[in-house]
Amino acid sequence: MPEPIVGRLAPSPTGLLHLGHARSFLLAWWQIRAAGGRILLRMEDLDTERTKPGMIDAVLRDLEWLGLDWDGEVVYQSKRHELYADALATLVERDLAYPCICTRREIEEAQSAPHRGDDTQPYPGTCAGRFASLADAESATGRRAALRFRVADGRGVTLVDGFAGEFDANVRRETGDFVIAKRDGAPAYQLAVVVDDADQGITTVLRGDDLLPSTACQSLLQEALALPHPSWFHVPLVVDDTGRRLAKRCDDLSLSHLRERGADPRAIVAWAANASGLEAGARATPSEITPRFSLASVPKNPVRLDSSALRSIGVGPD
Ligand code: GLU
Repeated sequence: MPEPIVGRLAPSPTGLLHLGHARSFLLAWWQIRAAGGRILLRMEDLDTERTKPGMIDAVLRDLEWLGLDWDGEVVYQSKRHELYADALATLVERDLAYPCICTRREIEEAQSAPHRGDDTQPYPGTCAGRFASLADAESATGRRAALRFRVADGRGVTLVDGFAGEFDANVRRETGDFVIAKRDGAPAYQLAVVVDDADQGITTVLRGDDLLPSTACQSLLQEALALPHPSWFHVPLVVDDTGRRLAKRCDDLSLSHLRERGADPRAIVAWAANASGLEAGARATPSEITPRFSLASVPKNPVRLDSSALRSIGVGPD
């Protein structure tokens, strides 16, 4: 029997979902539904500081409004701390993770980065080999410590992506040892995603290509924890008229705002389908598109949300 296909929608409720999210979630949903697979919904709500009240409900309402459904109960990362703690303990035991007390400012100073706040610089490794344990780091310095994953020297990764093709990343040079647990003990995104994708039996991940560098980190964590790699598909983002990616603070293009303005969700689905090379006319429900879904039709370039696209969903200038 062939392996069952399992995909996921994994929103972070740190801001309102916008048209860019709608398009990636629809593509992820179409890909799985077209293959007869199961799709799970995982709420990535670990960042308690940035998860605003009411946002989880807004995300669920937006997805339902678009016409997306999912199999089984919603999984909340905030309720799965034990699972992440086990994975962190394994990495620490195997000396693949170490405590780090550096503040963001100290890291920037150590990098003497020409542009402050340029987070493309790798972590310089200041705390590698400095403390025997987390407790030692905290008692010696009086500071809370994060945990970083140790990236081996020269460590590069070649990802074979089902949409983007081959992607080479030199994680050591580009990211350096990366955070897997924050100072407050909460697991970091990279760790949680890897643990959850394995635990939930996710076989297929389709998401925005801004996450490709993260995928390289995730791939290293999967190896370290002896977890399988899912098949990855990274699609270009939706960009605004000036070519910039839509940001969560772009509230005008949020699904909640569009709903309040009386937009028709079927027009949004049709726009996402048409922009992905799937002929949809002016209005469609997600399941009407499923039979004609083909990843090969999806353009390799970012989708520009220009005035005619906005008009098609009823919010552009007349
Ligand atoms: N929760 C992440 C986000 O909204 C996506 C995570 C993932 O697809 O792995 O950006």
